[in-house]
Amino acid sequence: MACGPPVGRMRERDQEVRQLAVKRIGVFGGTFDPPHLGHLLLAETIREQFKLDEVLFVPCNEPPHKDREDLTTATHRYAMVVAATLHNPAFTPAAVEVNRPGKSYSIDTLRALAADYGPDVELYFVAGLDSMLQIDSWHEPEALLDSCHVVVVSRPGSSFEKLRDVLPERCHERIVDASGGQEAVETRGLRIYLSDAVYLALSSTELRQRVRSGLGIRYRVTPEVERYIKSHELYQARATEVAS
Ligand code: ATP
Repeated sequence: MACGPPVGRMRERDQEVRQLAVKRIGVFGGTFDPPHLGHLLLAETIREQFKLDEVLFVPCNEPPHKDREDLTTATHRYAMVVAATLHNPAFTPAAVEVNRPGKSYSIDTLRALAADYGPDVELYFVAGLDSMLQIDSWHEPEALLDSCHVVVVSRPGSSFEKLRDVLPERCHERIVDASGGQEAVETRGLRIYLSDAVYLALSSTELRQRVRSGLGIRYRVTPEVERYIKSHELYQARATEVAS
């Protein structure tokens, strides 16, 4: 007489064990000019919510959607990301974009990371709702959606409703509501998670303006980032601005 668990249950176990071996990595890209506490809190919240083993902070080389003459060099922005993430062992600065010349397209980054990490890794790409709503203007958007999980984060007051209109219909069944902080980790198939993880009222633009105006940025960035900005005299008013 046959004994042992039925085949169906063994397959489920198999799946479970394989899932335990998979490393889950968040990919959090940005200009980080400079990185602030809003970035860190968002990354930590998402790390907990999606049980990520690691969150990669990926400063871009050239942002594809921002045209800023005063963009701080990639070397400084990368160094500030190193300074910002120093005290969280689960946060890792990644130089994959700063080392790649030209505009930083996320799909190129995800392909490079997938090739580096190999098959036992699941990538969770973190994207703001604002930029997701412009997915049509991204480089190879469909390839991106098919290459990783996506965690879409909304700013307070914005709604996810419009997202369905811009996503290809075949992706609609992949959408999972993970708002309200609920854990929403699925084991099968790529997902597009909607998250309302904390969004502090902070922006890098505001911080650059504060420094330029001689105001402090304490409690808005980590002390290490604050020191880096001071010692490299970043975001200072230009000579012409001072004179006028
Ligand atoms: P800037 O003001 O220069 O446009 P920023 O503060 O929006 O910059 P980015 O480096 O462009 O910072 O942001 C990278 C990512 O961080 C984006 O996906 C954005 O959704 C997220 N983010 C930006 N500001 C906050 C914040 N205050 N709280 C949580 N997440 C944020």
